[in-house]
Amino acid sequence: MNFSELKLSPKIETAVAEQGYTTPTPIQAQAIPAVLQGRDILAAAQTGTGKTAGFTLPMLQLLSEKALASGQHLKSNQVRALVLTPTRELAAQVEESVNQYGKHLPIRSTVVFGGVKINPQMMKLRGGVDILVATPGRLMDLFQQRAVKFDQLEILVLDEADRMLDMGFIHDIRRILKLLPSKRQNLMFSATFSDDIRSLAKTIVHDPIEISV
Ligand code: AMP
Repeated sequence: MNFSELKLSPKIETAVAEQGYTTPTPIQAQAIPAVLQGRDILAAAQTGTGKTAGFTLPMLQLLSEKALASGQHLKSNQVRALVLTPTRELAAQVEESVNQYGKHLPIRSTVVFGGVKINPQMMKLRGGVDILVATPGRLMDLFQQRAVKFDQLEILVLDEADRMLDMGFIHDIRRILKLLPSKRQNLMFSATFSDDIRSLAKTIVHDPIEISV
């Protein structure tokens, strides 16, 4: 399979080619069409499978298409897509991928995580962002300070869900879920599928396309 078969926009295809990718990985070949169709996905995928591009590429496409179609503007502190990750290292990596793959698009993104000053993060969120990559604890702090709002949220990504549970983020995740609009697209990734992950998935994804690589 070739990337051109995935019907990504020319600007995204260019960014992919600039990364030197020629063939989609199996997770990308399955996830990208499903996400573009607006479906929820539940994917079993380890790090190294190309899962980050698997959700980032179609997410960038959906967000950039819609911005152009409706001419809609982001309101203060609003976020259109939220990517939750268990660690600051993973958050930073995902944000780096979003920047690379989205570099030819008018998409705004930022990353927030704990262990650093909150004020600069509050400033970056002021005008709203299309994509926010966050660790759960710092996201809750920012919400409580009214620095982030979810009224315009369209897409939720849960990356490495099993690690999030292992690290004790289940309460934060449940609190965050209650704050999000119920009509949204959900993409959930986990390396392993325990009973805990299955029961969490039941509360997050609706009629998902299940992918295993
Ligand atoms: P991930 O599983 O998302 O952490 O990605 C693992 C590595 O694979 C990253 O270094 C990516 O840059 C690389 N990668 C992702 N997709 C492709 C692809 N289609 N072809 C070659 N390398 C890729």
